[in-house]
Amino acid sequence: MSKQTEHWQALSRDHHLAPFTDFQALNRKGARIVTRAEGVYLWDSEGHKILDGMAGLWCVNVGYGREELVEAAARQMRELPYYNLFFQTAHPPALELAQEIAALAPAGMNHVFFTGSGSEANDTVVRMVRHYWAVQGQPEKQVIIGRWNGYHGSTMAGASLGGMKGMHAQGGLPIPGIEHIDQPYWYGEGGALSPEEFGVRVADQLEEKIRQLGADKVAAFIAEPIQGAGGVIVPPDSYWPRIREILARHDILFIADEVICGFGRTGEWFGSQYYDLRPDLMPIAKGLTSGYIPMGGVVVRDKVVEVLNRGGEFAHGFTYSGHPVAAAVALANLRILRDEGIVARVKAQTAPYLQRRWRELAAHPLVGEARGVGMVAAIELVKNKETRERYRGLEIGMRCREHCFQNGLVMRAVGDTMIIAPPLVISPAQIDELLEKAFTCLDLTLKEVQGR
Ligand SMILES: *Cc1c(COP(=O)(O)O)cnc(C)c1O
Repeated sequence: MSKQTEHWQALSRDHHLAPFTDFQALNRKGARIVTRAEGVYLWDSEGHKILDGMAGLWCVNVGYGREELVEAAARQMRELPYYNLFFQTAHPPALELAQEIAALAPAGMNHVFFTGSGSEANDTVVRMVRHYWAVQGQPEKQVIIGRWNGYHGSTMAGASLGGMKGMHAQGGLPIPGIEHIDQPYWYGEGGALSPEEFGVRVADQLEEKIRQLGADKVAAFIAEPIQGAGGVIVPPDSYWPRIREILARHDILFIADEVICGFGRTGEWFGSQYYDLRPDLMPIAKGLTSGYIPMGGVVVRDKVVEVLNRGGEFAHGFTYSGHPVAAAVALANLRILRDEGIVARVKAQTAPYLQRRWRELAAHPLVGEARGVGMVAAIELVKNKETRERYRGLEIGMRCREHCFQNGLVMRAVGDTMIIAPPLVISPAQIDELLEKAFTCLDLTLKEVQGR
């Protein structure tokens, strides 16, 4: 360990409280310090080169080191580093970005409310959908239905909409007026049902929940097209069509949380286009700026905007809503994704290749299932492929993640599920490298747990 790394680790221990971290465990071990990045690779302070299989946190869609984004930020900072969108003012970057997003979004979604993050976007939808019903004289339509193990951010409202029980256990969540139904996680929860049967069964819970609460009490249903942080849960093919049928029968809004799926992750601009969903609101963030600078927003359907237009002041907003520098970076980022054909190439070439190669992992003795869509994928680590029995109490996911880091690959562990979401610019040769490393790390993990 270099003196420099030790210095930074000491700063971490003495002064930093890290997100989603057991502080004491981190202090014992020392943080890995990442110092620079280029393309799909990171370098740590010890000089190790690491293939970033997670695109940071699902966000660096165009890859690291894009000078155009740096230029866009610098130019905007010189021109107008800050102004706000409150009280009947605006500035060109936010307006041009709103137009650009509307052009990419599903038909009939032509307005954007900007926020600083995905969590703030989900806080915004809670207030916006409740206000939408109140304006129409139905203030009792308040309840929002989410899903267990969904992820919608870490603020009070975001964490409440999400269904992470570990998050609910801290800080008195969920807030009132949020309900949850089961997730479409066939491998983990489908038992003896076929994926199709299971998909219909969990979708039908939405109908049951609406009937139980009364449709006159339900404001909206929120879901990620593909759950990300929950473990890349790709729903069975029967799931979304059934949910659409149920939504069509009830007068409630549908919120598709596109924070991960948006901006090319599935090979379409939005996950809603991949699954042919018809959302009324779409929270966005992450890939919007490829993570170069924080920004989020909510894309809103025309029918919702028409109601909000009658509602007087919407008393909600953030100092940094539509920040001009973030908006300029987002515009440059969307231009790269579109003009370089990155989203089109994901769909036609690199995603089919990644998914084909990723399925090869299913042959490994540790892997019970390999699944994925576009540029997200997961494997389930099991002791017994037939019975889906797990290695209990061994934290096998964290062990595997550690081997990955040691061997130059970032794969994230969600319990016993290993997941990837690489930058969209990853090349076929780099996909081969990712797979080779993944096989090596699975071998090392198996060797460690065999016989236990
Ligand atoms: C990351 C994420 C969020 C929260 O975004 P932040 O920018 O971290 O606040 C919300 N929804 C989904 C689906 C996410 O993956």
